Amino acid sequence: MSNVDRAIQHLNRKISEREQSQTISFDEFLKVLTVSPTAVVRNVFQTFHDMIRSYVGVGVDEYPDDPESINYVHYDCSNLFVKDADRPFFADRLFANRLINHVDAMKGSARQNKIYIFEGPHGSGKSTFLNTLLLKFEEYANSDAGTRYETVWRLDRRVLAQINETQMTSFVDRLTGLLDEYELGQADQAEMKKSLFRSGDFIEVPCPSHDNPLLMIPKRDRRTFFDELFKNDEFKWKLFTDKEYEWVFSETPCTICSSLFNALLQRLPNSMDIYRMIHARPYRFNRRLGEGITVFNPGDKPMKQNVITNEQLQRKIDILLGDSNAVRHIYSNFAKTNNGIYALMDVKSYNAERLLELHNIISEGIHKVEELEENVKSLFIALMNPEDEKTIEGFQSFTDRIEFINIPYVMDLHTEVEIYRNTFGRHINESFLPRVLHNFARIIIATRMNRKSEALLEWIGDPEKYAHYCDENLLLLKMEIYCGHIPPWLSEDDRKRLTAKRRRRIIDESEHEGVTGFSGRDSIKIFNEFYSAHARKDGLISMYSLVTYFTKWRTDLNEMLPVHFLDSLVQNYNYTVLQEVKESLYYYNEDQIARDLLNYLFAVNFEVGSSVLCAYTNEKIDISEDFLRSIEVRLIGQEVTEAVRLDFRRETQKEYASRTLTQEILAGGKDPRETTLYLALHERYVHNLKDKVLEPFIDNANFRRAIKDYDTEAFKTYDKRIRDDVSFLINNLCASRFHYSKQSAREMCVYVIDHDLARTFPT
Ligand SMILES: [Zn+2]
Repeated sequence: MSNVDRAIQHLNRKISEREQSQTISFDEFLKVLTVSPTAVVRNVFQTFHDMIRSYVGVGVDEYPDDPESINYVHYDCSNLFVKDADRPFFADRLFANRLINHVDAMKGSARQNKIYIFEGPHGSGKSTFLNTLLLKFEEYANSDAGTRYETVWRLDRRVLAQINETQMTSFVDRLTGLLDEYELGQADQAEMKKSLFRSGDFIEVPCPSHDNPLLMIPKRDRRTFFDELFKNDEFKWKLFTDKEYEWVFSETPCTICSSLFNALLQRLPNSMDIYRMIHARPYRFNRRLGEGITVFNPGDKPMKQNVITNEQLQRKIDILLGDSNAVRHIYSNFAKTNNGIYALMDVKSYNAERLLELHNIISEGIHKVEELEENVKSLFIALMNPEDEKTIEGFQSFTDRIEFINIPYVMDLHTEVEIYRNTFGRHINESFLPRVLHNFARIIIATRMNRKSEALLEWIGDPEKYAHYCDENLLLLKMEIYCGHIPPWLSEDDRKRLTAKRRRRIIDESEHEGVTGFSGRDSIKIFNEFYSAHARKDGLISMYSLVTYFTKWRTDLNEMLPVHFLDSLVQNYNYTVLQEVKESLYYYNEDQIARDLLNYLFAVNFEVGSSVLCAYTNEKIDISEDFLRSIEVRLIGQEVTEAVRLDFRRETQKEYASRTLTQEILAGGKDPRETTLYLALHERYVHNLKDKVLEPFIDNANFRRAIKDYDTEAFKTYDKRIRDDVSFLINNLCASRFHYSKQSAREMCVYVIDHDLARTFPT
C-alpha cells in the first residue's frame, strides 16, 4: 500500500469515526436531553433568539434608576454584525432595540407562522445585514452552543429480517455474488465481507425535514413521557406552560418519519424495537448547499421540479419493509430548510413569486408535495424596498402574516460616526476638534428626520425656550434621545415631564424616519470629500470648516437641511464647549482650594514684591499684585472696585493676625484648615467659583493671551499664577471625559475667546 493510500485511508477512518460518533441512539439522545433540556428542546425560533442573545449580550441602560425608563438600552452588536464579517453592518440603537424586541417576541409567541420582512430604502445596508445575520446563524447553529438534533433512522436488517426472511436471504446472496465478482484474496474477502456486513446491518434514512427526534414520540404520549423523563424543575414547568414550547406537543413529524414509524409499528411486536432504530445526529447547517439555510436572489429562476425523491433509497426501504406503498420517500425543497431559515434577498422578479408561494405555507404551516402534506416550520425572512410594497398589495390575508421590521438609514449619531471610523480608519478622530466629527454626523442625520415631531412638541411646548441649544424643529434634542441621552440643558420641569409614555411616543416616531435624506452611501461620499479637503497635519477641523463646507462649497447639500439648522448646531456647539471650559475651570479639588487659601492667608502678611516660603504648604510664593488679585477675584468676584478689594485684603490680614494665627492656631492648636477665617473664605471661594468661573475669560486680558500662547516660548513670560490656571484648565480638558489633546484644548479655548462666548452666551 502506498503512502498516499495509507494517508487517505487514515483520513477516511477519521472522517467516518467523527460522523459515526456524532450519530447517537435514541437512548443516548434522551440522556443528552435530560442533561441540557433547554439546548435540545429548541425550534428554529428559539435557536435564532439564543443566537442573537449570545452574540449581543445584555443591553446597557445609562440611567438604571430612572423610574420612567422604557428599557431603550444600548446593545453592543459588534460581535453579531461587525466581527469576522465580510462586510460589517452597523445597527444603530433604534434598530438594535427593534430587532431584539422582535426576536424576543418571536421566541415567546406560539403563532410563528409569519414572514419577517425587513423593509428599508436603497443604501440602508439590508443585504449586508441579512448576509451577516445568516453567516452568524450558521456559525452558531454548527457550534456546541447552538447544536440541535435531527432524526436519522437506522432500519436494522436483522430485526426486520425476522419478519421478512426471504428478502434478507436474497440480499445476502446478492452480496456474496458481488464479492465473488471482485475476485479478492481470501483474507481480503473475509475482511470486506465483515465490513460490508457491518455497514450493511442497517439502512440509514435521515429525516429530510430535520425533525427533532422528540417528535417521533406519538403526540398523545408526549406529556406523560416528559412528565416521567424530567424531574419537577424549572424547565419542566416552562415546558408544560410556556407558549414557546407549545410546538413540542402540537407538532407532528414529517410524512416520511411518520409513515416509517407506522409501518414499523405494524410489523414489529415490540415498540422498543422501533425506538432502537431511531437515532439522532446534530443538525448541520450549510448555506451553500441549502441545508438548513436557503437564500434566494431575485434572479434565481424557480426550479422546474420541486419534488425530491431518492429511488435507490426508496427501493431499499421497500425491500426491507416488504411493501412498496408503506413509506413514500418524497419531499420538497422546503423540507431542507424546515426548522431552519428560508430567506428572500429583495422581493422582486422571481422572489415576488416566491413570496406569494409562501402564502399557503405560512398560513397553513404545510406544503403540498403531490398528495402529501409536508410540514414547514421555518423562519421566513425577506428584504424589501419601500417601492416594492405594491407586490403584496391586495393580499389582505397575506399581509396579516407579515411582520414588517424597518431597517432605515442610521439615525443614531454614534453609529453614524462609527461607520466613518470603520470606513476611513480610527485616525480620522485626530483630525477633528472634539465634537466636530459628531456634528458632521448630526448634519447627515438631520436630513433623514421628519421636520415636525408631534411627540416633542407635546412634551416641550414652545421650542423657542431652548433656542440657545437647539433648533426650532427640536431635531438636535431628538437625536440625543435616539442615542439614549437626556441633554443637560433641559429644564428640571421638562426633565420630569419626560415620562415613559412620552419616551415611547418619541422612539415610535423613528419608525417613520430614515427613508429619505442622505443614504448610507451618500454620507460616506460626502464625508470623504469633506475630509480630504480639510484634514491637514498642522490644524484641526473646526466648526468653522464644517459650516463653511455646507454653506459655501456644497450649497446643494445645504438645501437638504432644515432652515437655520446649521446656526442652531453652532449654538449648540458653543453652549457645549463653554460648559466644558466651565467645568474644567471649576474642577478644582479640595487640595487646590486649600493650597490657594493657605498661600493667600500666609502671603497677605508680607509686602508685595517679596518672596516667601509658605509655612502651611511649603510652597515658595512670589508675592505680586497679580498673585493676590487672582485669588481675591475668586473670593469676592471680578466686579468690585480696587478700593473694595484692597479693603478686603486688609480685613483678612487683620483677622488672620489677631485671631486666626494667635488664638486658634498657636494657642488653640487648631489645624489652619479648621479655623473660622479659613472656613469663611472657603465658602466664598466655592460660591464664586461656580458663579464666576468664566471671569478670567472675560476681563483678564493676560489670561486670554496666555491661552493663545500656551505651549509656546511666550507662555513662559506670564505670571506663575496665570500659567498655573491656564495649565490647569488645559489639563482638565485633556482628562478622559472630554477627549481633548493639548492642541485641541488650546484651539477650542481660542475659539471660545475669539467668539467672546463667555460674555455673549447666556448662562
Ligand atoms: Zn422526518
